[in-house]
Amino acid sequence: MKIGIIGGGSSGIFAAIEARKKYSDVTIFDKNNFLGRKLSSTGAGRCNLTNVNVSPGLYRSIKEFYFQELIHKYDYAFLNEYFSKLGIYTYHTDDGWVYPLSNSARNIASFLEDHLNSLNVKIYRNTSVSSFIKMKNKFQLKTDSGKLFEFDKLILASGGKAYPQLNASDAIFQSLLNFGHNLIPAFPALAPIKTSKHKTKSLNGVRVDATLRILDHKSVIGSDFGNIIFTEWGLNGPGVMNLSHLVHQKNNLNIEIDFSSLLPQDFLKNVSEDKFLYLSTPLLSIFNKKIIDQLLLNLDLDVNSPFKMNDLRHLIEKMKFTEKIIGTRDFEFAQISTGAIESSQIHPESLESKLCPGLYFAGEVLDVFGPCGGFNLHWAFISGIIAGQMKS
Ligand SMILES: Cc1cc2nc3c(=O)[nH]c(=O)nc-3n(C[C@H](O)[C@H](O)[C@H](O)COP(=O)(O)OP(=O)(O)OC[C@H]3O[C@@H](n4cnc5c(N)ncnc54)[C@H](O)[C@@H]3O)c2cc1C
Repeated sequence: MKIGIIGGGSSGIFAAIEARKKYSDVTIFDKNNFLGRKLSSTGAGRCNLTNVNVSPGLYRSIKEFYFQELIHKYDYAFLNEYFSKLGIYTYHTDDGWVYPLSNSARNIASFLEDHLNSLNVKIYRNTSVSSFIKMKNKFQLKTDSGKLFEFDKLILASGGKAYPQLNASDAIFQSLLNFGHNLIPAFPALAPIKTSKHKTKSLNGVRVDATLRILDHKSVIGSDFGNIIFTEWGLNGPGVMNLSHLVHQKNNLNIEIDFSSLLPQDFLKNVSEDKFLYLSTPLLSIFNKKIIDQLLLNLDLDVNSPFKMNDLRHLIEKMKFTEKIIGTRDFEFAQISTGAIESSQIHPESLESKLCPGLYFAGEVLDVFGPCGGFNLHWAFISGIIAGQMKS
């Protein structure tokens, strides 16, 4: 039995490791000159491999979500044990983000490629697969240089469109149309959000925690609490990136940036008229001065307004900015793309195509994504393992 894998990224590598346990002839193709090119850029170079808190409720799909059972079964404990058996040693931060002890994403990519070499997986680097078809129960692959390969089973692990500067592309999806697979259009996700900047221009460069809400008129369609950075075009940082997939679902959305949850609960109790000279003084130990000044200006108050209890009460009721959303930044700035192959046409327990037996999918080509924090690599690794467990 000959197994072919298109894509030697995070999911394709794990698919090959798992497939090799059952099958002796496993071949992997990748456009790049080494495997795990994107993996080696993850986690700001540190490789945020997974998260202690992986659970199905944290994942989303653009269409219906079919993969609860898989994520439940192949959870952090499963993957952590899998890593240990491979010889990958990790640690996690207090909030559950998991990294290799070396803190080096490039090392992890090298470790995995060495491992595939030791398993005698055939690796074709710098090789782009341009198309594939199925004829007489065999998959025929054609590369950009016109070379043909034949396989009994095929795993599509070619990733999404995020970070085209690392050769990411979904051009190979065209071959899926011949099998009747529906494609959901791809959009940038885990991406910075561009905003109108009417009220936050003065805050460029400020980094802060805040509660963020995406508003469709008055209704909240998504919210998150996390770190954000104000930039000249809008908002960056994990808090805002986690909401960016919502931006492409509707027009005329607003984003609310709310600082009130940072105020200590007993804040007003410790404030008295005689203690403070300026209205801004009680807030100085909690917030960046630029934020306080902008909040005062939004209420038509001078930045040097004298302290008045009623003004302070008014100010802390309005500790937020609302900006119009213009869009997300493009694929060049996104960590993942949403969309991909419609899940209703895939067996959710094996990741095999319902339309083309013997064709499996893994990683970002599936309509599944999670927030920042290691959740997307987790999905890439476990979906690779599941696809690699293909039945004979
Ligand atoms: C800058 C950045 C940082 C990130 N940091 C994190 C993080 O810390 N934690 C986290 O969980 N997630 C992170 N992600 C997301 C994570 O990298 C992806 O979710 C994951 O890599 C998806 O794995 P994949 O195997 O589906 O795709 P990829 O890893 O992109 O692999 C797909 C591979 O297929 C190859 N390919 C595509 N088409 C063809 C073709 N026609 N022929 C041959 N080869 C082809 C590509 O060259 C690529 O190597 C980050 C993403 C980016 C861009």
